Amino acid sequence: MFDQMNLFDANSSDENSNIVGNSSKEKAKSRIDFLKEEINKSNYLYYVEENPYLSDFEYDKYFAELKELEEKYPDLRTVDSPTQRVGSVSEKFFSHKHKYRLYSLDNTYNDEDLKKWYERVCKEYNKELELVCELKIDGLAIALTYDKGIFTLGVTRGDGVTGEEITQNLKTIKAIPLNLFEPKTLEVRGEIYMPKSSFEKLNEEALNSGEKVFANPRNAASGSLRQLDSTITAKRDLSMFTYTGIFEDEIDKTQIKTHYDGMMYLKKLGFKVNPNVRLVKNIQGAIDYCNEWATKRFDLDYATDGVVIKVNDLAVQKDLGFTSRAPKWATAFKFPPEEVSTKLLDIELNTGKTGVVTPVAILEPVQLAGSVVSRASLHNFDEIKRLDIRIGDTVLVKKAAEIIPKVVKVMDTKEHQSLPIYQVPQKCPSCGGILVEKEGEVGLYCQNPNCSSLMCAKIEYWVSKEAMNIDFVGPSLIQQLYEKKFVSNPVDLYRLSMEDLMQLDLIKEKSASNIYNSIQNSKNNPLNRLLTALGIRHVGKETADILAGEFSSLDELASADVERLSNIEGIGEIIAKSIYDYFHDSNNLKLIEELKLLGLNPTSKPKPKSDKLSGKVFVLTGTLQNMTRDEASALIKSHGGKTSSSVSKKTSYVLAGENAGSKLDKAKDLGVIILTEDDFLEMIKE
Ligand code: NAD
Repeated sequence: MFDQMNLFDANSSDENSNIVGNSSKEKAKSRIDFLKEEINKSNYLYYVEENPYLSDFEYDKYFAELKELEEKYPDLRTVDSPTQRVGSVSEKFFSHKHKYRLYSLDNTYNDEDLKKWYERVCKEYNKELELVCELKIDGLAIALTYDKGIFTLGVTRGDGVTGEEITQNLKTIKAIPLNLFEPKTLEVRGEIYMPKSSFEKLNEEALNSGEKVFANPRNAASGSLRQLDSTITAKRDLSMFTYTGIFEDEIDKTQIKTHYDGMMYLKKLGFKVNPNVRLVKNIQGAIDYCNEWATKRFDLDYATDGVVIKVNDLAVQKDLGFTSRAPKWATAFKFPPEEVSTKLLDIELNTGKTGVVTPVAILEPVQLAGSVVSRASLHNFDEIKRLDIRIGDTVLVKKAAEIIPKVVKVMDTKEHQSLPIYQVPQKCPSCGGILVEKEGEVGLYCQNPNCSSLMCAKIEYWVSKEAMNIDFVGPSLIQQLYEKKFVSNPVDLYRLSMEDLMQLDLIKEKSASNIYNSIQNSKNNPLNRLLTALGIRHVGKETADILAGEFSSLDELASADVERLSNIEGIGEIIAKSIYDYFHDSNNLKLIEELKLLGLNPTSKPKPKSDKLSGKVFVLTGTLQNMTRDEASALIKSHGGKTSSSVSKKTSYVLAGENAGSKLDKAKDLGVIILTEDDFLEMIKE
């Protein structure tokens, strides 16, 4: 398993560097004072303000150092030291004294620590003790009281003795049962969390509307839960895993003898228990579990920062007891950090396929969640301004699973104020064109259609896996094709001949033929791929799939108005307007005509919305009130039905609007069912 302690040493960069083991008591005292001040300040910002100023990794580093110094000089340990306490309480809500105290957990960072902890706990019992391994959910601890099966009280952990009473807000979380399956009286503890996907979405929305962005899912969960208005909490996607129960009914107290059985019982009562809980025989089983989840956790949609390992036998737990801050019968194995601080060396500018210029952070390389990171996203210039990011700053970089690392904040350093404020560029870094802001959009845009970076980015997107999926055509080949003037836009790819390709550096007949065939084969791609490749603003792969399910060809899509488009599920007004604008721009229409001439004009069979009208033939007559006849036809088709222009015995229904003529008469003669517009809408209602 990885050894994280050496990372601690490598990161010890503050001027009061680690002095354990080599200094006088006086020096130790001043270091202890410094650490206590830093940790207290961090606790307040983390627990109360939800705006941490240290990374967790740095916090843990300070905390471990303080503990080590206090162990070496026990008389320097004061009762108000952060090592003796848990968390912090704010004054935002009514405070509530816990019936049973809540504790924190001691941390371990490697196999050796884990083995030492296990030896300590097993020593007195002279046997191997069974352990329960649980993922350590990175959220917010909560205590819930149930009185005869009814949820009556919910309190945050706070400082462990007193927390904030937030029952109303907790009632909005669906994973918290309001009534249990059995009328039991108990207190449960669990971790409230926000799924990573919801966190990303919340931050994206906040970014677009210029609101506060949360540093991580934990802060987002805490901020969402500690809202004075519970309707705001209700709108946030929060959930909870329950990990402990304190049972008050005598029968439960006598029957539940192990932690594992307690968890299974909680599940039976209706609580959400993490499915990855595992009972293991000894510490090796726990080490295996930690190794397994060190990477597997990235596939989960919730953040985990470690593994909690607990002694299974409740009698042994009781016997081992607690320190002032944490249980002796449990330990938290911490995964390597997902966020770390490093120096921002430069800000690189890139012009993308829409002309938007994006800033990228160039970083002093640093180890982060198992890999070396030297570049990170900075979102956009508004975000640089909001965070006051300056070149030379120490910044906090975060990596969450598959997501590219990003700079989430500037660390509070002395140098920051003396660094020059970052100046937002005025000109495109590639072609020198003046950058403009677009109404309703965040970001700066290069509007030069001949900008080489913009066009190369467009071509790169065109050939990408999610768009036309053209193999053998990568960024450097595109650059060469563009510089040698073989292509100036994606359409030109289809005009390339074998002879053209053979003129490129390092391209022999075999690779020229691969490139040529791959480009030509892409002409057979379905409509959704072509729609993705066009790079219409706001139309990515998902929207392209929806459009290809609704329209049979580019022409049909091009003739749709905004209303028709925005009536499609999954397509809002902004997307509809963007699609409409795209197909009403003469340059784009010219490009589409060229594509068609080159053989790119796929058709698709729109998939029905439902098969409610399957096998039914409709005839439309008269003027409808809420839609045109074309729109009604499209609706019929989208539900699997067919339309016909004349009434016969085969007609299932005649949809008749105002001033219907001879078709209505014929329907009456033949006894065909006649529908009003309302009847029809009722028929296709979901
Ligand atoms: P902790 O988060 O390290 O561990 C205790 C908590 O783990 C419990 O209270 C519980 O909420 C949670 N937990 C999750 N899954 C659990 C499970 N299956 N079983 C039991 N408990 C589970 O301790 P803490 O006291 O909440 O916070 C300390 C940590 O918070 C630090 O180690 C640091 O990483 C972070 N912190 C960071 C800053 C900062 O400025 N960045 C400041 C304060 C704290």
